[in-house]
Amino acid sequence: MFRLNLQKLFLLLTVLAVLFTFANSYYTTYQVQKQRLIDSTLEANRVYAAKLAETTNNSLESSQKQLAYSAAVLAKDFTNEALLNEEVKRLFQQSNYFNSVSIVNSKAIVAAIFPLTIPVKGNTLSDGARQSFNTRKPLVTDPFIAPTGRYLASVSHPIYHENGDYLGYIAGTIYLNQDNMFFKLLGQHPYNDGSYLYVVSRQREIIYHHDQHRIGQHIENNPVLNAAVDGQWGSSIVVNSLGIPMIAGYAHIERAGWGIVAQRPFENSMAELDIQLMEVVLRSLPILLLTLLLIWLASRYITKPLQALADHAKDMDKSDAEHNINQIKAWYFEAFELKQATLRGLSTLNSKIYQLNEDSYTDPLTQLYNRRGLESVLSQWEEQKLSFAIIALDIDHFKLVNDTFGHDVGDEVLQNLSAIIRRSSNTKAILCRNGGEEFLILLPATSPHLAYRHAEKVRIEIAAFNMPTAGKITVSLGISFWDADSDNSIKTALKTADTALYQAKRQGRNCSVIAE
Ligand code: GH3
Ligand code: MG
Ligand code: MG
Repeated sequence: MFRLNLQKLFLLLTVLAVLFTFANSYYTTYQVQKQRLIDSTLEANRVYAAKLAETTNNSLESSQKQLAYSAAVLAKDFTNEALLNEEVKRLFQQSNYFNSVSIVNSKAIVAAIFPLTIPVKGNTLSDGARQSFNTRKPLVTDPFIAPTGRYLASVSHPIYHENGDYLGYIAGTIYLNQDNMFFKLLGQHPYNDGSYLYVVSRQREIIYHHDQHRIGQHIENNPVLNAAVDGQWGSSIVVNSLGIPMIAGYAHIERAGWGIVAQRPFENSMAELDIQLMEVVLRSLPILLLTLLLIWLASRYITKPLQALADHAKDMDKSDAEHNINQIKAWYFEAFELKQATLRGLSTLNSKIYQLNEDSYTDPLTQLYNRRGLESVLSQWEEQKLSFAIIALDIDHFKLVNDTFGHDVGDEVLQNLSAIIRRSSNTKAILCRNGGEEFLILLPATSPHLAYRHAEKVRIEIAAFNMPTAGKITVSLGISFWDADSDNSIKTALKTADTALYQAKRQGRNCSVIAE
């Protein structure tokens, strides 16, 4: 079954945490920057709209002052047609506010006009142009369409005789669809970031817009514009008449009752923010990658001991398991404890196994090797090509011992005999109870001659020993040799030792015989 390992879990968790943290800080940065950008754009547009409202207001005021001056001059000699013609020309040329200058008399007839190319001199005022005439006060008119078809607004000043009679008015026009004072004043909009300006009349008609096609359009339900026309100053986010969200500043042009709005599409500001955020991401990318790399290294370093322990735990039965586990660098508490526990477990297991092996290889009565132990040793020596001598040993007339003293005394004799064999043999000798009262002594790398001497030594010691109950007993011994370089099998060599033993019995027992 598939299981996530500790390193992957660790990586997954920490990488997710880091990514989440970074994403969160990007998001927070974005939100904070967004608010700041909105606030600063609102403020910039508010200040800009206010400044332009003031400038426009000042221009209107000074143009009205010029008209007032002309009105005073004309009042003294209003019948002087030459003076009238002279005055409209002078005003037109001196001031750069107006597209045309005209004088209307008290019968609402155009008495003088400049430039002369406009053929309205002597005409009666159209209905749309009668606002100045009717009001008889200094005025900035609402925009109207003149008989010439032009869309315009005019700045006018009444002319009163010193006795108080109304003589007419003098007016300068602003052609809203053409190059005019607004274009000079507002047209040099310094920003290149999608922001723009427009001016609306009291009736919410656009009288200035960078897109000239929109001049004359009526705008309904724009809260910012309504506020500006109503005399308020401020800033706000607003959806414009085309459905585009705008960050707008607005102000009121008092002298004309107009509103001015400076605005920037919300999208443009946000696009700038996207670029900023991308820059933040790019700049933080190396640190992010470095962090991820460090996490990866840390995850390897931290999980390595546990991973190694887990790997070796699967191979506890291998002979090098203990060595491998010892090699693990368990540098922190849990890994160290686990390693120690694993080593303890392994050592207990090994000693149990060793004990079980020992038990299965040992004869319980004499503590010598049994047949199984013998076979294990023989197979090792065969593999190692180790030549060895064999001594087969059998107690003489043992049946008699059993018959005379009983089986328990017989067992005692077997134990005592084993002790004598063990005592008289060196540590390299392998001692084995081959079954019943027969024993084998294997002497590695020992010549038949030396083996014979050893057999004799054992025989003499046994013969000299006085058994507690059974008294003296003797043994017969047969000696053979297995040469690792010969073609003979070990089995044959054992049989040969047996044959030699049989011969010793036949020669009268209590003697040693070397096989032919
Ligand atoms: P020989 O000199 O020809 O070897 O005569 P023997 O009597 O020793 O030979 P035999 O093979 O006829 O008898 C072996 C006896 O060893 C038979 C059996 O009772 C006895 N014996 C075998 N195993 C044990 C044992 O574990 N304990 C005891 N007490 N006696 C055993
Ligand atoms: Mg026997
Ligand atoms: Mg015997």
